[in-house]
This record gives sequence, C-alpha cells and structure tokens, in this order.
Amino acid sequence: MSSAGKLRFDGRVAVVTGAGAGLGREYALLLASRGAKVVVNDLGGTHSGEGASQRAADVVVEEIRKSGGEAVADYNSVIDGAKVIETAIKAYGRVDILINNAGILRDRSLLKTTEQDWNLVNDVHLKGSFKCTQAAFGHMKSQNFGRIVMTSSNSGIFGNFGQGNYAAAKMGLVGLANTVAIEGARNNIFCNVIIPTAASRMTEGIIPEVLFNELKPHLIAPVVAYLCHESCEDNGSYIESAAGWAAKVQTVRGKGSVLRPSLDDTVTLEYVKNAWSKVTDMSQAKHLNSMAEATGYLLEVIEKLKAGG
Ligand code: NAD
Repeated sequence: MSSAGKLRFDGRVAVVTGAGAGLGREYALLLASRGAKVVVNDLGGTHSGEGASQRAADVVVEEIRKSGGEAVADYNSVIDGAKVIETAIKAYGRVDILINNAGILRDRSLLKTTEQDWNLVNDVHLKGSFKCTQAAFGHMKSQNFGRIVMTSSNSGIFGNFGQGNYAAAKMGLVGLANTVAIEGARNNIFCNVIIPTAASRMTEGIIPEVLFNELKPHLIAPVVAYLCHESCEDNGSYIESAAGWAAKVQTVRGKGSVLRPSLDDTVTLEYVKNAWSKVTDMSQAKHLNSMAEATGYLLEVIEKLKAGG
C-alpha cells in the first residue's frame, strides 16, 4: 500500500497502560510509528505486581524517540488513573486514545486465593481500567472524540483453573466496556474489547512452547490500533486476536421456553424440569444488541401467555 493510503494517527494523543513490555509495548510502538504522541505508562513491577521501576517505560520511550516518534513516560500505577491521564494532559494537552492494557497475575486455585491476591488482581485490571477511563472520558467528551480499548481474556470468557481472580476481573472489563460504549456513543467515544493471546512474560511457561513461538505480540498490535483509529466504527465489539488472526466474539441467548401454561399459573419445579431441554436448547440462539431488545422479548413472552401460550 502507498504511504498515502496508510492509516495515521497524526495529532492524536494515546495513553497505553502497561506499555513497558509485551502487548502494550507493541501498541505504543505502532501508534507512535503512525504519528500518535504516546504516553508510555508502566509501573515496572513484577508479573505478580510487586515492586516498581521506571526502566520499563523509559526503555520504550527511548525506542520510540530513536525511531523519530514522540512519547513520554508515566510511572504511575493504573490504580491512580487520574495521574496517568494527567501526564497526557500536561505533556500534550489532550487524550484521544486510551488502551487499558496493564495487568498482573496471581494464579491460585479458589481455596488458596487470599483476599490480597483477589484485591490486587481486581484493582490493577478492573479498577485501574475504570480509573483511567473515567479520567480520560471527560476530556474525550469535550473534544467529541475518543477511542478506548479494554483488555479481556479467554480466561474470563471460558474460565481457567487457578485464575478465578483474573477471570472475574477480565469479565468485569467486558461489562464495563459495554456501558462505556453506550455512554460514549453520542460523543463519538467508542469502547471495544480486545481478547488477545500472546507470548509475553505473563504467558511464558503457561502456553506450550510450540504455540508460544507463534504468538508474537506485534501481530495483535494492528488490530488494537485499528480499533483506536477514527475510521473504525465499531463500538462495544469484542475482538479476539492471536497469531495473525482475529474474530468478533458475541454473547448469544437461546430461544428459551415459557415455564407455565398461562399467566394465571405459577412456575413449579416440575414445569421447569419438563421445559429444561427447551430452556437449554441453543439451536435457535441469537445475539441481542441491547437491554431494550432483551426486555422487548420479555414483553412478547407476556403477550403470548396472555393470549394462551
Ligand atoms: P506483560 O506482563 O508483558 O505486560 C503487562 C505490563 O503491565 C507490564 O509491563 C507491567 O509492568 C505493567 N503493569 C502491571 N501492573 C501495572 C500497574 N498497576 N500500573 C501500570 N502498569 C502495570 O503482559 P502481556 O501479556 O503483555 O499482557 C497485557 C494485557 O493483556 C494484560 O492485561 C493481560 O491480562 C492481557 N492478556 C494477555 C494475554 C496473553 O496471552 N499475553 C491473554 C489475555 C489477556
């Protein structure tokens, strides 16, 4: 493709959290190479959230500057989201793009999970993304433009042994994204979810080596960068990506079944048992776009019951 047709981010300011390594580093490098001014946020601690170091963010900022791009480092924890966004405002006067990517792991099976493990994992992923998003949202609203990405995980979508704290946080982010997408839509603020699988210090030793070597994080960066581009019209999408592949993920609901013969009857355990195969039948499952659509369907069910089933 000629450079004239290239997607650019000139004039845009992007905050990438956890950009000192792994996926975040790739997002920061790509956005900067396409003209964005980038805030490289990273606390620089261990993968389980201990300690801190400025080096992680500094190295990436240096890399960007050496290639002719513009970047500043931010060393705050995402839990202090207002400070992270303040770095963008102080350095560049605006924030157009926020990629909530920072993360840690404290894998323990349910019985071994301490309250501290639970709190720290949820604080970094879920609360951190909330705090950064909330701090950026007002700026995006006043400029009538924003692109926000939340980072979920297949651990949340499917569950994964020993990752209850992480899985809960990652599905929490899907819920948060759904609402941010609705609240932002009228101000051209779009919020989407990335579900990545990539080789990084987080997955080293977890993903089998033969797969690990193919899961280069830079293969996911263009997908996330596209979600942040002004030409991308998706809002509220969940995109899974790995190994140079991407697909949209959706929730679906089955057709379901009424559980009582008429409005005058109550629901009994026996009615439930009898209807169970229909309740759990997914052959006519479909995706619903909104709560309004879900409630609309309930009204239809009630009308049918009124009319005698
Ligand atoms: P990584 O460990 O290489 O990078 C995460 C970065 O976040 C690190 O540089 C770390 O210092 C930083 N960080 C941690 N806590 C922070 C905090 N409180 N404030 C600021 N920065 C902080 O991991 P990765 O694999 O690149 O993961 C990036 C994101 O993608 C994470 O949210 C992770 O949960 C998610 N994810 C990764 C995979 C995968 O296969 N790698 C799969 C699903 C989801």
